[in-house]
Amino acid sequence: MRYAELVRAYERLEATTKRLEMRAILSELFLSVPHSELASVVYLSQGQLRPEYEGVELGVATSLGTRAVAEATGAEVAAVAERLKAVGDLGDVAAERLAERGNTGEDHPLDVSEAYLRLLEVARTSGEGSQDAKIGILRDLLGRASPVEGKYVVRFVMGTLRLGVREATMLDAFAAAWGGGTKESRLAIEAAFNVSSDLGVVATTLADGGVAALSGIALTVGRPVRPMLAERAKDLSEVLQRMDGTAALEYKYDGLRVQAHLAPDGTVRLFSRRLEEISAQFPELLADLPKALGAGPAIVEGECVSVDADTDEIRPFQEISRRRGRKYDLERMQEEIRVAMFLFDVLLDKDGTTIELPFPERRRRLEALVQGSPRIRLATQRIVHDVEAAQAFFDESIADGCEGVMAKSLAPESAYRAGARGFWWIKYKREYTQGLADSIDGVVVGAFHGRGRRAGMYGALLLASYNPEKGVYESFCKVGTGFDDAALQALPAKLAPFAVAERPAGIDTGMEPDQWFTPGVVLEVRGAELSLSPTHRAGVGLVRPGAGFALRFPRFTGRWREDKGPEDATTAAELLRLYRTQVRREATEGDDAPGDEPAVPIGRKD
Ligand code: ATP
Repeated sequence: MRYAELVRAYERLEATTKRLEMRAILSELFLSVPHSELASVVYLSQGQLRPEYEGVELGVATSLGTRAVAEATGAEVAAVAERLKAVGDLGDVAAERLAERGNTGEDHPLDVSEAYLRLLEVARTSGEGSQDAKIGILRDLLGRASPVEGKYVVRFVMGTLRLGVREATMLDAFAAAWGGGTKESRLAIEAAFNVSSDLGVVATTLADGGVAALSGIALTVGRPVRPMLAERAKDLSEVLQRMDGTAALEYKYDGLRVQAHLAPDGTVRLFSRRLEEISAQFPELLADLPKALGAGPAIVEGECVSVDADTDEIRPFQEISRRRGRKYDLERMQEEIRVAMFLFDVLLDKDGTTIELPFPERRRRLEALVQGSPRIRLATQRIVHDVEAAQAFFDESIADGCEGVMAKSLAPESAYRAGARGFWWIKYKREYTQGLADSIDGVVVGAFHGRGRRAGMYGALLLASYNPEKGVYESFCKVGTGFDDAALQALPAKLAPFAVAERPAGIDTGMEPDQWFTPGVVLEVRGAELSLSPTHRAGVGLVRPGAGFALRFPRFTGRWREDKGPEDATTAAELLRLYRTQVRREATEGDDAPGDEPAVPIGRKD
């Protein structure tokens, strides 16, 4: 396929913010792509070269991109940089320059497969001389591109493609292209994505054999599974009610969720909650997991926390978070911050995949698999049948340094539901007894200039929750409290990669920040309560027409959710649940409140 054809679809995608139109454009595109180029087109349209978990990055900074555009178009670097300042987008600058030079893209037209391979080369070139090599490849590609092709090549390498195509829209488009647009096919496609985390694999499987072929996408060691997620409940009595009176309660460790993949040759790969590979950060786990799990293959999940070397007590989250993203000083850090991984699930063992099995059986398989050691242990668990026993276990968990309990359903349907949040797992935390029942993870979509002591820096941030139904980020608060000096100073650099001149598409708010950001950075806030507001748009209309949720007295907890992508932020549906929990709590002191329905056991449809 000609790269020009792909770019035509991009132009159409950019011209709309409507998810239905995007779905139609994408499905038409996917059906027109030759099979051999389908996966590349899927990745490219997401601004990626490989599935996200592989972490393939182009390593092209603004200075390098500027040089490439200058060299490809025979301009001075300073002139391109100057123009970039004025226009704000290097892709647009490249298009201008290529148009001035009269490039038509017709002399030696670019193919998608060729462009893809060359871009992969840009990503894979590293070490000495790599900057020049990268520039060489880009100069080549741009030299052959038409202005509009050049625009998208440059935006792609700069990581500013921003077609607004989210994962959910891709799955919609797959269903439209190969599943007749039915709800069943959409569900099957999402399920295949949840176990493979690879849109390219899902698309090629669909193109080969339709929806029926998706069942052939099996769990594979080295390919992370999207995590199963938990719902919340207002108290332990609701937890038990939802689980038909009996539940397995586990300690809820406050650390980093880790999915460990052990290959039969003993190599281990570790993935974070957002499926980034974090193997290099925990060498001691790479060494100890094969000893604990025996001959592979195996895929297990657990929470990594820091433990005191002398007393074996569990340390606060802040300690383990210092091990995240660390590349240097690993030996010293291993001594300073000792980790233990508490395993709570198994997805695959040497006898095959276990995700279809009910939880009690998975727990038995996990217990049979694990040879416990100080570093690799099983999550503490107790089966409870009444609130008193649940409360006693909760208190023990808090006393042992955990943040609450995770309740797990024992029902026959309690399979591991990859990528889904449901009442098969319910989290109940200590904070549920004070202020708002839980913290909220918000995406930064804007910032306000500071005043007084904060003059010259950002004074407050505009946060949004995610609404997966609409594919939109909806604001719920402006937060300026809770940032210490170090956090304030760090803000500009942290947010700079996401800064844009105008309000990006897919953001709903009644506020006008001084600076807009595309959704990227997620942070945790707490607040006194959720109220309804005409200015904030989170879950707008869910409780009252025209009103969204607003968090009152928000405060940054100091926790950057680097383990969450923007689409993992708290959703509108979760805010509704929090809002109702709070209405209920007030209601217990007075009259019945609206939205106060009784808890429904999970065996039945909620
Ligand atoms: P979520 O993962 O639900 O989006 P979150 O990342 O903000 O939310 P929490 O609300 O604190 O995290 O609770 C869920 C997390 O608790 C899990 O993702 C997992 O990392 C952690 N966890 C700790 N102990 C357990 C356990 N025994 N079983 C399952 N998860 C556990």
